[in-house]
Amino acid sequence: MSLKGKTAVITGSNSGIGLGVAWELARAGADVVLNSFTDRDEDHELAAVIGRETGTQARYVKADMSIGRECRDLIAKAGKCDILVNNAGIQYVSPIDEFPEDRWNAIIAINLNSAFHTTATALPMMRAAGWGRLVNIASAHGLTASPYKAAYVAAKHGIVGMTKVVALETAQEPITANAICPGYVLTPLVEAQIPDTMKEYDMSREDVIRKVMLERQPSKEFATVEQLGGTCVFLCSPAADQITGTTISVDGGWTSL
Ligand code: NAD
Repeated sequence: MSLKGKTAVITGSNSGIGLGVAWELARAGADVVLNSFTDRDEDHELAAVIGRETGTQARYVKADMSIGRECRDLIAKAGKCDILVNNAGIQYVSPIDEFPEDRWNAIIAINLNSAFHTTATALPMMRAAGWGRLVNIASAHGLTASPYKAAYVAAKHGIVGMTKVVALETAQEPITANAICPGYVLTPLVEAQIPDTMKEYDMSREDVIRKVMLERQPSKEFATVEQLGGTCVFLCSPAADQITGTTISVDGGWTSL
């Protein structure tokens, strides 16, 4: 299966899952547009390495996914968007009665609103091209909840709901919309939660990983960014033409508990 000739835009892709997805889509032949809110030489270098190693066109476009206009500009600057992977996301953990309003707003803006803006801009391009794949990186927290993650769980449930609506609105077109729901993946977003959790539970790093983070992941293993990239490639393959409006869990059994 080759995605040669397709252009994929992956939001929030200068690290973690987004970067892994960009690599796998490029390895499958797609030209890729990487994104984050920074504009460092190393961001552009990441794209250059992917392009060199995979023989595809790879670019980096700076756009802040907390700002609606910049989300729309990202898609416009890509020029073409056959595959849209809404991946940008942040986390903040606090009891709801102490949850800072600015963190709530930032999580809803980056993890949910951005996907509304990018999808609304990309869909006419997909219709014009006669093919499109919308892939939203939700979370096991799009299907279940944990305490102290009110904004994140609300945003992830929201994106699962939006995915279903877009799937219905495109059901009779050669366009699909699906959400991938990862369990824990050891990325910078998760790394950042380890020191606080070590302090909170007075535990070693290894115990935090096994007894707290992977406590709800029956496989007791992190999912990998390559596995998530591979799931995106599958959703772009002809085998997935009739898969739309659904969630695919990559969570080591978490949501079966
Ligand atoms: P990460 O911190 O490595 O990556 C997040 C990406 O989003 C980075 O590239 C970052 O630069 C980008 N980003 C943050 N704010 C942005 C902004 N304002 N504008 C543009 N880009 C911005 O984290 P990750 O774990 O790779 O997370 C990626 C996605 O996967 C998120 O939506 C996250 O909720 C989801 N997810 C992660 C896990 C996990 O265990 N790591 C599990 C389930 C879902």
